[in-house]
Amino acid sequence: MAILNILTAPHPILAGRARDVRDDELGPALEKLTSDMAETMYAAPGVGLAAPQVGDARRIIVVDPGSGENRGKTLMRMINPTILERSQETILWDETCLSVPEFEVEVERSKRVFVSWRTPTGEAMSQWFEDFPAVIVQHELDHLVGTVLLDRVSRFRRQRWLARAKKPVAAR
Ligand SMILES: [Zn+2]
Repeated sequence: MAILNILTAPHPILAGRARDVRDDELGPALEKLTSDMAETMYAAPGVGLAAPQVGDARRIIVVDPGSGENRGKTLMRMINPTILERSQETILWDETCLSVPEFEVEVERSKRVFVSWRTPTGEAMSQWFEDFPAVIVQHELDHLVGTVLLDRVSRFRRQRWLARAKKPVAAR
C-alpha cells in the first residue's frame, strides 16, 4: 500500500466531473487503488476520500465512519456510487475536507440516503445510510461532480480562503 498525495483546492481535477469506472477496469487494479486511498484517508486522518482528491478523475470513493477500534472494520470502497433515494428530512453538519485544509462549514444534507455501488471486484451493493455516514457519502459524492466545500460558501469567504492558501505556511 502507499500513501497518495492529496490535492488541495483550487485544482482542475477537483473542479471537474469524474467519469464512470468501466467494467473492464474492475479487479486487482481497483483493489490496489482503493487500498491506497484508504491508507491515505487513515493517515490524514479523515473519514472519506474521493478519487479526484488523489488525482484520479473516476467515480470512486472510500468511506469509513467508524471511530476508535472500529476504524478499518467499517471501511467501504465504492465504485460508481449513486444515490437512488433520499429522505425529505435534513441534517446540519459542520464539515471539513482534506482538500480544503483549515476550513469548516455547516452544510445541510439529506438525513438518509439510499446508495448503490459496485465493489472493486464488481459485486453490486446497496444500502441506506443515516446521519454521519450519510453526510460523509454525500460529501464524497460532491467531489465526483466537482463540488468542494468552498463552492458552498459566499464569494467573500471563498476568496479569503484562497488568498490565505496561496501564502507560504510561515506567513499565515
Ligand atoms: Zn472533501
